[in-house]
Amino acid sequence: MIKLENIHKIYELDHGKTLHALKGIDLQINKGEIFGVIGLSGAGKSTLIRIINMLELPTDGKVIIDGEDITSYREAKLRKVRQSIGMIFQQFNLLSSKTVFENVAFPLELDQTLSKDEIKNRVHELLKMVELDDKADVYPAQLSGGQKQRVGIARALATNPKILLCDEATSALDPKTTSSILKLLTTLRDKLNLTIVIITHQLEVIKECCDRVAVIDGGLISEMGNTIDLFANP
Ligand code: ADP
Ligand code: ADP
Repeated sequence: MIKLENIHKIYELDHGKTLHALKGIDLQINKGEIFGVIGLSGAGKSTLIRIINMLELPTDGKVIIDGEDITSYREAKLRKVRQSIGMIFQQFNLLSSKTVFENVAFPLELDQTLSKDEIKNRVHELLKMVELDDKADVYPAQLSGGQKQRVGIARALATNPKILLCDEATSALDPKTTSSILKLLTTLRDKLNLTIVIITHQLEVIKECCDRVAVIDGGLISEMGNTIDLFANP
């Protein structure tokens, strides 16, 4: 489903300096899997997850999605690929001047393939899926953190992606809300046969929902395996 081959990322800094953020990442994530990437701040997690949908371009190496090497794609084709990859964020990234309904409708309106009625039906279907249909007409500021992330999830899934990337998606939430979001992600994985990639610095998140995990340290994977094998409680 997702294959990373020898991914390097070198950031160009000021005064001709460079920063080698990823130093040769090899990774294969299977269809239907919830895959976790854990590491300390600065380890390269964000860079890695942003390379999966080519928001960040790798300096070297290949990103292969469903057997297709997308690193060779130009912008028009990449836009298509990105539509098949949803993403959620730590700070939710909702548009504050738009209602919940409008936030979820936004990617569908950009897509320009659905009629107004089709968008309406699809948005309500998505909001039901995240149990927020009663909040369609409120603004993000009126929602709790957990509710905001549910809107984020509904928006990320609007265009029916097969892959969902979660960038520290529960880091701004309390433990109980974190659990409920992780349960929702697991339910959606089962229901929609999603492949989910979670990056986090929280071990509890990994233990609670990830099938497999990679530990990233200084831009390199130091360990990888089944969560139960790597992080079993004694
Ligand atoms: P993590 O998500 O694990 O905290 P990041 O991928 O954000 O790690 O960062 C990895 C390294 O790359 C850090 O040293 C960080 O300062 C650097 N870095 C991240 N983004 C940029 C950028 N846009 N420009 C320059 N350096 C960056
Ligand atoms: P009203 O005119 O009473 O607000 P609408 O027909 O506009 O009724 O809204 C009916 C449903 O459409 C509501 O459930 C609402 O959530 C949803 N809706 C809200 N904003 C939009 C929008 N920008 N486009 C389409 N439907 C919307």
